[in-house]
Amino acid sequence: MKRKIFRGIFLTALLALITGLALVMGVVYNYYDRQMLEETWDKADYLAQGVERLGADYLAALHVEDRITFVDVDGTVLFDNQAQADGMENHGDREEIREALETGSGSSERTSRTLSEKTVYCALRLSDGRVLRVAYSQYTVLHLFWVTVLPVAGIAAVILLVTWLIAARIAKHTVQPINEINLADPDIDERYEELAPLVRRMKKQNRRIEEHMKELRRQQEEFQTVSDYMQEGLLLVNQKAEILSYNRCIREFFENEEELLGRSALLLNRSEIFREVMSGVLEGKHYTEILPLKGRTYELIANPVAEENGSGVRGAIVLLVDVTEREEREQMRREFTSNVSHELKTPLTSIYGMSDLMRNGLVKPEDIPGFASDIYKEAERMIRLVSDIMKLSKLEEQEQDAEPKPVDLFALAEEVKQELSYLAKEKEINLYLTGEHCTINGNENVLFELLYNLCDNGIRYNRPGGNVRISIEPEGERVRLTVADNGIGIPREHQGRVFERFYRVDKSHSSKMGGTGLGLSIVKHAAAYHHADVQLKSEENMGTTIIITF
Ligand code: ADP
Repeated sequence: MKRKIFRGIFLTALLALITGLALVMGVVYNYYDRQMLEETWDKADYLAQGVERLGADYLAALHVEDRITFVDVDGTVLFDNQAQADGMENHGDREEIREALETGSGSSERTSRTLSEKTVYCALRLSDGRVLRVAYSQYTVLHLFWVTVLPVAGIAAVILLVTWLIAARIAKHTVQPINEINLADPDIDERYEELAPLVRRMKKQNRRIEEHMKELRRQQEEFQTVSDYMQEGLLLVNQKAEILSYNRCIREFFENEEELLGRSALLLNRSEIFREVMSGVLEGKHYTEILPLKGRTYELIANPVAEENGSGVRGAIVLLVDVTEREEREQMRREFTSNVSHELKTPLTSIYGMSDLMRNGLVKPEDIPGFASDIYKEAERMIRLVSDIMKLSKLEEQEQDAEPKPVDLFALAEEVKQELSYLAKEKEINLYLTGEHCTINGNENVLFELLYNLCDNGIRYNRPGGNVRISIEPEGERVRLTVADNGIGIPREHQGRVFERFYRVDKSHSSKMGGTGLGLSIVKHAAAYHHADVQLKSEENMGTTIIITF
């Protein structure tokens, strides 16, 4: 703007200077020209009168600077004060002479070949018909221009320099108040009233910007709050993979406490998969990948954000979903299916093999009862297994039909003791029940299964003459069930895993005992169903105690 003002002032001054000079020169030259012409006519008039009275000799006696020519009626030059008359050619065809002969007076002008001088002729016809001509020479405008060009240029240069300085000063002073306006809080000196509308508009604009900013801040906060409540990690990056926005989960998942805005997302995780996803998504590809992170498993979903005109990618939205539980469940389901198949296949193969031998008559008649007994045992094991699986899946799905109702745990334990008395006798184990009648709210069948499995294990993983002690006791508001045996115990390294499905410390021993590997799993789920705590204490060869607190 400063430059524009300066240029405007300077060019105007320059134009004014040139036009002014040209006009002044033209006016002066014109005035001078007219003056000279008038003077020449006066001279011609005055000389004509002299010749009329005194004859042509009068001319010869004169001493004048102007050129005087006396021409006869036929154009013959009779006298010329600056040349020899008889040597001169006929002047009858000269414009001014011709005009004077015809009308009484005539004038014309002729420019020299160099264009620097012009001669003006004024001719008058005398009473006898002859013509007197007076001529004067003067410089042309062009000559005047060339003669004056240097001093005029000097003056013009001085004027231009002064104009330059003044224009620069004016431009600076004009722009200064505008430059001094405080954009955040625009106000203006009263002296510059022309700027008042601009300032008013700026204030209005500022108010509008402020309102927009407030709205944007509100939206930003709203977005941040919403995204912070998300269970997923949310990350927005620009096309250079710089972080534009992120939520609380991103920090938690990547265990990063630093401020992440503006930093490269690639620094969050150095794994190859993360890098590949980040660079690929910014090339416009979609990704759904599994990303292991600090012991947990995440699903990494990355979507590119296209430019509005669709010409490229302006950034990406990355979502991180914690799928650890889902993956674990999936893994467990896979293991469970494979375990079930395996567990079912073993007795089925035996049954198949033995029945095949019998079918083909390869078994001696006296061995048939033994074979039949084995087939019976294997089938029984299969039934137990299927039944355990069904119980477990019911417990897992939490789909117990019956409404919880008060159950006397002591009475239930008596029932279990009764049920297992045959097995205990067979294994030479002493079963004891102590404590008192305690009632809890729950599902009787599930509690029966829990008690049964604990006591069953106590009997089976024991030695002849061993004991299994069941006790039911109140513990403040709660009820404590303890099943303790002095059997073979569980080695320390296996204690953490015995509640897993199909986990057995000694597989062959467990199978021999008719175990399915699901007993303690059922116990765990049954306890969870009743919101009870499970505690296991065991020592190899000393015995096992399991405490369930309802
Ligand atoms: P199983 O049907 O094989 O008994 P469980 O889930 O009931 O399966 O038990 C898992 C494993 O834990 C058993 O195979 C056994 O090795 C061990 N176990 C369970 N209870 C006892 C116990 N009272 N004494 C010693 N070992 C036990």
